Amino acid sequence: MTSYVFITGGVVSSLGKGITSACLGAILEARGLTISMIKLDPYINVDPGTMSPFQHGEVFVTHDGTETDLDLGHYERFVRTARGGRHSNYTTGRIYESVIAKERRGDYLGATVQVIPHITNEIKESVEKGAGDADICLVEIGGTVGDIESLPFLEAIRQMGVELGHDRVVYVHLTLVPYIPTSSEIKTKPTQHSVKELRSIGIQPDILVCRSEKPLPSDERKKIALFTNVPEKSVISAYDADDLYKIPAMMHEQGLDGIVARQLGLDLPEADLAEWDAVVEAKQNPTAEANVAMVGKYMDLKDSYISLVEALQHGGIHTRTRVNIHFIESADVEEAGIECLSDMDGIVVPGGFGDRGIEGKIQAVQFARENDIPYLGICLGMQVAVIEAARNMAGLAGAMSTEFDKETPHPVVGLITEWQDASGDVEERDEESAMGGTMRLGAQAVTLTEGSLAAKSYGSTEIVERHRHRYEVNNNYRDELSKAGLLFSGLSVDDLVEMVEIENHPFFLASQFHPEFTSNPRDGHPLFKSFIAAVRQHAEGELPKAAEA
Ligand code: GLN
Repeated sequence: MTSYVFITGGVVSSLGKGITSACLGAILEARGLTISMIKLDPYINVDPGTMSPFQHGEVFVTHDGTETDLDLGHYERFVRTARGGRHSNYTTGRIYESVIAKERRGDYLGATVQVIPHITNEIKESVEKGAGDADICLVEIGGTVGDIESLPFLEAIRQMGVELGHDRVVYVHLTLVPYIPTSSEIKTKPTQHSVKELRSIGIQPDILVCRSEKPLPSDERKKIALFTNVPEKSVISAYDADDLYKIPAMMHEQGLDGIVARQLGLDLPEADLAEWDAVVEAKQNPTAEANVAMVGKYMDLKDSYISLVEALQHGGIHTRTRVNIHFIESADVEEAGIECLSDMDGIVVPGGFGDRGIEGKIQAVQFARENDIPYLGICLGMQVAVIEAARNMAGLAGAMSTEFDKETPHPVVGLITEWQDASGDVEERDEESAMGGTMRLGAQAVTLTEGSLAAKSYGSTEIVERHRHRYEVNNNYRDELSKAGLLFSGLSVDDLVEMVEIENHPFFLASQFHPEFTSNPRDGHPLFKSFIAAVRQHAEGELPKAAEA
């Protein structure tokens, strides 16, 4: 029988509710429990697949190909048993879509369809589906208590508390305890108000997690407990950590997992956080340092590439390398020149959509290839590597992806429907559909060429990785590109290009899939480990430096 922990947030958004939930999952898992994790998002979009990275940060893709909120990435990075999927992320839009479909089918037998009970029942059923058969299901409610949009979700979780009882439901509330520098004071009032708001809709939190700059002094902890009707030991101080991976230990030291276990009547072994300690130890004691440039779009929005940034850091943890990531706007490379990449030990071109800065990305690939700088291309980063090879290795002037130039003389990347059509006609493309249902999404098998850098990195020739893209390398150009020196080292079961590499280069590897979605700090990821190992060698001068080349 699954028990539930509901995590709400108050005072302000962006307190790190996703990370807090993930860390709570981690310490409960460290006590031998299986965990499932759900994110409920109050916005009306059916899923975040069509949302701009400016609005919403990265779209995280689960194993089954669901486009979800980036918090699901935190969950998978922190909790091994929590593998997200279709039932792990529900938005208001998705809940209403389902209720309206039922109403149209006549499932409600003529009843007046209302928020209570129809919407709330739909939410409860969705949560139960997402919980699966895990020991504990952690459910994070997006937004801030007091928002109009989140009310139906809060009402649904309130009802679950009544229906399942206090020994199967725990409410955790995350708040902000600000420090006012002018008066040197810590302020508990916003927390008091936020809990009052939550209680006014019928939810008494069992645990408060208070975000603050410094550890919460005991007087303030007492005061918060008194005013919120929460036991003092259940007021947890989540102070700013210099390292994300220290948070599980920080929470465990204050007894958070024990408080949850006690309320749920679970008699559990001690938490084993040795792996987390090892991650922190490795991160804090690097034996080398290296510079990696990430050349893409939205570079001032680090959240757009959060899984990739994390995966590069995991590569650093597993090679004891401090990885300094430099975010470089590809449009700036076009304008200001490629010199900004000269001091780099590695270059990454991440996934992306839209043509802004595309030439800058192609230039970055060329620079990495010609100067023996380790290169890792992800999705669009592989497509630009193919375009660069076509133009500068195979001499196919004007080669391009049809995503960016429909008239290109050499459509080396295009929609399958474009290049499988022998006439070579490029169809009119609908701008909107570039971000929609026609994408190749989710985990698929890839076969790697024996002896290739890809196969050596993975230590296997059969892998499974996640996808999110529409355009494919045009198979009609494969022979010509192979002859020019591009190795197609990974192929899908349906013979689509999954990985490319260049043999006489220290490390030049690119994938159509997104390996970053399956990297986690404890295990690292084979591709990122081998990339960062090459980056480290470059930094240590074991590979030719760009300046000397
Ligand atoms: N825009 C490219 C495509 O749709 C690449 C997508 C990506 O990098 N995620 O194929």
